[in-house]
Amino acid sequence: MCTRKVSYAFNGDVGNFHYGPGHPMKPHRLSVIHHLVMNYGLHKKMQIYRPYQATAQDMCRFHDADYIDFLQKTLPGTVSLQDHKNFNLGDDCPIFDGLFQFCSMYTGASLEGAQKLNHNQSDICINWSGGLHHAKKYEPSGFCYVNDIVISILELLKYHPRVLYIDIDVHHGDGVQEAFYLTDRVMTVSFHKYGDKFFPGTGSMYEIGAESGRYYSVNVPFKEGIDDQSYFQVFKPVIQSVMDYYRPTVIVLQCGADSLAGDRLGCFSLSTRGHGDCVKFVKELNVPTLILGGGGYTLRNVARCWTYETSLCVDEQISNDIPMNLYIEFFKPDFVLHPDIPSRIENANSKQYLEAITKHTYDILKMCQHSPSVQMFDIPADALPDEKDRNIDEPDADVRMSQSDIDNLIDKNNEFYDDDNDNDKNENDL
Ligand SMILES: [Zn+2]
Repeated sequence: MCTRKVSYAFNGDVGNFHYGPGHPMKPHRLSVIHHLVMNYGLHKKMQIYRPYQATAQDMCRFHDADYIDFLQKTLPGTVSLQDHKNFNLGDDCPIFDGLFQFCSMYTGASLEGAQKLNHNQSDICINWSGGLHHAKKYEPSGFCYVNDIVISILELLKYHPRVLYIDIDVHHGDGVQEAFYLTDRVMTVSFHKYGDKFFPGTGSMYEIGAESGRYYSVNVPFKEGIDDQSYFQVFKPVIQSVMDYYRPTVIVLQCGADSLAGDRLGCFSLSTRGHGDCVKFVKELNVPTLILGGGGYTLRNVARCWTYETSLCVDEQISNDIPMNLYIEFFKPDFVLHPDIPSRIENANSKQYLEAITKHTYDILKMCQHSPSVQMFDIPADALPDEKDRNIDEPDADVRMSQSDIDNLIDKNNEFYDDDNDNDKNENDL
């Protein structure tokens, strides 16, 4: 098997934001994952980059300017009743300290990943801080404020005639589906829990797209408690058929880890291996892929899952014993990567039900025209400014090389770094 060139975005500050006490979304999980990735030595197998930070202008490629202006200017505690009304704000999406900066970091990382794929600088780009699939054009939703996925797909469409979006979060990928509901340039395929008013309430198998996009939205609605075998038995043939019919030139995979057993908000029974099987299957399709995070609310399991999936991307077998690291206590009592997570939820998906939803998907795919082609005219300019024009962090007097120096070094040499400079970067990032 030929090893693919993998890039991995990480900004050491992205794990320091807080949605507020008791909120299930914890950006801190990103720091824990990064520690595990480093302690397993996976950084030696990929190019780690400190990503670009998206501007308001980048966000307005999809979002409404008034909404982005609100995100940029509003401070915690200053939200008016009118703001609540205008932007449909609720407790799920609080205004917290540094909110715009947080959005800017995770969105910029996805956007830079898309640009790397556009220019064949990488085969796989990973951004665990991205994948916020619920955000809408005019409002936040389900812990998501800026839809980095839609913005990245818009960037990919500058170079790619057909983009496939796959979503394995336990929740329906509604924001992405809605954005591309009327076009055949993007096929969205979401596997999720549907029914019993489960958030966000959309994603029935009858939502299939409209106008030019008719038959290009695919929804696979599962019931609660789905296990590895049942999930993969649907995932594999559905994605294989999508590949045969649609022939995407690039894939965006949202790897929401709230579909794991024992998630604080989810209700599926997937193991980290079962979840990883989907990532592995997509990777082996050998199409350039942007890999993003998403939901995931039992922190230790999210960290296990995305670390394991990083190892799959770089073809590295890693030990089940979690290496000593700053957060080792999180992995009590077994300290392993693949613990047995008992599921208390019975699998409500019968064999007949799974067969019926798979067949329904085939029927939709048969209706869509084989791989629609598109005339590519002048390619619009890239979203990211040239590196020399970017606002890059000030050099830090405490490190021998500044972050931008290290990034430039990596970009210029186009090689993995595996020497003393590595340590500077790691310590600086963590
Ligand atoms: Zn979710």
